[in-house]
Amino acid sequence: MDNALAVDVEALRSRMEGTVAAPGDREYDEVRQAWNLAIDQRPALVAVPATVDEVVEVVNFARERGLRVAPQGTGHNASAIATLDRTVLVKTSALREVEIDAAGRRARVGAGVLWAEVTGPASEHGLAPLAGSSPDVGVVGYTLGGGLSWLGRRHGLAANSVLAIELVTADGRVVRTDRDHEPELFWALRGGGGSFGIVTAMEFVLYPAPEVYAGAMLWPWEQATEVLKAYVAWCRTAPDAISTSARLLQVPPLPEIPEPVRGRQFVAIDGAYLGSAEAAAEVLAPLRALEPEIDMFAPVPAAALSHIHMDPEHPVPAHGDGMILDDLTPAAIEALVRVAGPGSGSPLLMVELRQLGGAFATPPAEHGALAKMSGSFAFFAVGMVMDEAMGAAVAAHVDHVIDTMDPWDAGRRYLNFTERPSDPGAFFPEGTLRRLQAVKRAYDPADVFRANHPVT
Ligand SMILES: Cc1cc2nc3c(=O)[nH]c(=O)nc-3n(C[C@H](O)[C@H](O)[C@H](O)COP(=O)(O)OP(=O)(O)OC[C@H]3O[C@@H](n4cnc5c(N)ncnc54)[C@H](O)[C@@H]3O)c2cc1C
Repeated sequence: MDNALAVDVEALRSRMEGTVAAPGDREYDEVRQAWNLAIDQRPALVAVPATVDEVVEVVNFARERGLRVAPQGTGHNASAIATLDRTVLVKTSALREVEIDAAGRRARVGAGVLWAEVTGPASEHGLAPLAGSSPDVGVVGYTLGGGLSWLGRRHGLAANSVLAIELVTADGRVVRTDRDHEPELFWALRGGGGSFGIVTAMEFVLYPAPEVYAGAMLWPWEQATEVLKAYVAWCRTAPDAISTSARLLQVPPLPEIPEPVRGRQFVAIDGAYLGSAEAAAEVLAPLRALEPEIDMFAPVPAAALSHIHMDPEHPVPAHGDGMILDDLTPAAIEALVRVAGPGSGSPLLMVELRQLGGAFATPPAEHGALAKMSGSFAFFAVGMVMDEAMGAAVAAHVDHVIDTMDPWDAGRRYLNFTERPSDPGAFFPEGTLRRLQAVKRAYDPADVFRANHPVT
């Protein structure tokens, strides 16, 4: 950092309660860390604003010095950011307020809030947000990218249940957008990603979830072909009240993992049914007929939905990537099992088929940039990266798996399941991308904001 900038940084620091750290500062290594520990982010500066006013300070500071600004909540998707050269990484982790309006069935959260901080208190009122499978994914980053939740086949993408978004724009204004205020910006933010400003707060719908039947079924992965073929056939007629995922899982031999699954390999189906245990049992009967070794489906409070997928609840080093798949033929299942199942030598922790269709496939009357999810499954392949050699093996195998599934590619990528720098044309139809780019030009003509998945 040159001397003039160092003096300016000192001045910025003196105006902020939150942290500002430059390379060489004591806190720099701690605050630059992403949730994905495999990513070594080295921005020009890291800022952790304590208030919305401090977000404005940081944006003005960066813009006036020709620096770019990368907003980040947790860094779950940090691997997709192409570079942080001449960039201020703005961590929103201190903006942590959560308000639950149970009577109005809505929540308002600060940009640093994690899903578990909403699902817990909402569940006490028999309500649930359209949260993802993991308790510690950030509400804002997830929702800006679309948001596939366990309630999604009933209620659609999380982005399309957003009621209002507050953000700091490139010119340092604090803007509140909703269907009546700056509607083009509101449209772009709902599924178009983090290119348009730093979101400081978001308001969204909470749905009634008084009765939820959820959990997982596991079979030894030697049964993968049989179970996955039956699963894909079952998905074709499953009601919208159920949202599920099927995985080939290689559970690590870690001491904190319960003994019955530790170090073993499974084919697993998990998910949630919105309704009574009796109705759920009927829907799940064809899967139960396959006689799972472990069956943990049961009536649960809505808050439990953050844990049924057994996602890591703390930062981990990982490498993954995804795609959207069409309906899968028996040959597709066989190809997947060959490359990621028994005998494949796969180093991956899991490959996943997340069930789409239902309300995911139907654009609601008022929707954002991501109107719907085409295709039958959101696919994701991921492995742990404990060292360089493992990283190389995992990266090569993720590519191999994605190439293998190419014949069933539905033709689009999904922002949240894409963990590498990608062409914006991969995510959106041409007309949608042009409209997003027009919003970007209107609100951020100098391209101050650097998203993980930029629209330009
Ligand atoms: C274990 C795990 C489980 C997951 N489960 C699901 C799931 O069930 N469903 C699903 O849809 N996805 C899921 N994901 C993907 C997840 O939604 C994406 O990784 C998402 O981008 C994470 O958001 P974040 O804010 O936590 O991450 P970040 O990496 O902090 O944010 C991602 C991007 O969002 C933008 N952004 C974040 N905060 C702001 C802000 N305040 N203002 C402007 N832009 C911002 C930025 O462009 C940023 O680069 C999962 C990921 C993991 C690792």
